Amino acid sequence: MNHRLLLSLICGILSTAFIAAQEKSQGSSDSKSQNDGVFVSAKKIKDSLYYLSYKNTNAVAFLGRDYTILIDGFDAKAAPQALTTAGRLSLNPVRFVINTHHHKDHTGGNDYYSDSGVTVLCDQQTYNNIWADVNAEVLNDLKKQRSELAKSMKLAGKTERGKEIGAKYNRLSEQYTDRELSYPAMTFSDNFNMNLINESILFKSVSKSHTSLDVYAYFENSNVLATGDLYFNGKYPFIDEDFKGSIDGYIKAIDELLALCNNDTVIVPGHGSLASKSDLESYKRMLEYTQKGVQMDYLLGKTLEEVLANKTITANFDAQGYGMGYVKTEDYVSMLYRAAEKRYPRKK
Ligand SMILES: [Zn+2]
Ligand SMILES: [Zn+2]
Repeated sequence: MNHRLLLSLICGILSTAFIAAQEKSQGSSDSKSQNDGVFVSAKKIKDSLYYLSYKNTNAVAFLGRDYTILIDGFDAKAAPQALTTAGRLSLNPVRFVINTHHHKDHTGGNDYYSDSGVTVLCDQQTYNNIWADVNAEVLNDLKKQRSELAKSMKLAGKTERGKEIGAKYNRLSEQYTDRELSYPAMTFSDNFNMNLINESILFKSVSKSHTSLDVYAYFENSNVLATGDLYFNGKYPFIDEDFKGSIDGYIKAIDELLALCNNDTVIVPGHGSLASKSDLESYKRMLEYTQKGVQMDYLLGKTLEEVLANKTITANFDAQGYGMGYVKTEDYVSMLYRAAEKRYPRKK
């Protein structure tokens, strides 16, 4: 047997083994056992673009010439099924999953993807948020310990005890800032472009809207816009106030999205069915109407309980089912009321 033949044989065996390993890790060989009652559906948007749905949450799959890209990847439970579904759409492997923001219904599967050879990509701020979210308890505990230490340091002064406490404080601070997740992720800041065969994807970050940082993806050639949770089609939005989300920023972000759209744009919201530009425009009107209504009541001196009792602000939208999603009418109105308080603080 000559060398070249031997080499190509070895390569053949290796690549078959590699493909088998990836198929196994990407879940296509045993979808039933991993199914576990989880169903991720796929529907075609156009050409090489599909949207995947799981429990009213959406992700987008772009089937490239050489590999598939996912925009968001669901939670840990649905991730194996999402890879199986993507595997049915294309023979190519999924190579990248890009997170729109840190919430677990979009990023909980990151660990699984990473273990399956898929590269996780997100904004650096999203990465920090994921870290902060998964470590929220540890973080809070450390913060408490740190402030107690700082207090006792003041009391102990420059004594031996003070030095001891100082060293412990430094160790804790290091731990506190040691930001690492259990999986690797590539990060970007603000903007990021993927220039592919037949498609260019623009990823753009917006701050302080749904969370402190959200990313949308615009497929320029296909004219398809994936908004992540910058759009809850047909439902009141969740504004993550713990992570610096804001209703003002949310409305501003929708303006930015609308500026990208024309009448042919297909919009894939983070939750809910596909939408058009005019759907997003009426969603924005709903946000502005309810925000102004609550603000007005607040400025008239009404308490939160009184505003909640005034159902006329949301009646029209409640009738269309807006309060039947993740965020109930009461939670939505309460968030708007807190935003009004923040904007116009009452003198005590
Ligand atoms: Zn979210
Ligand atoms: Zn979500």
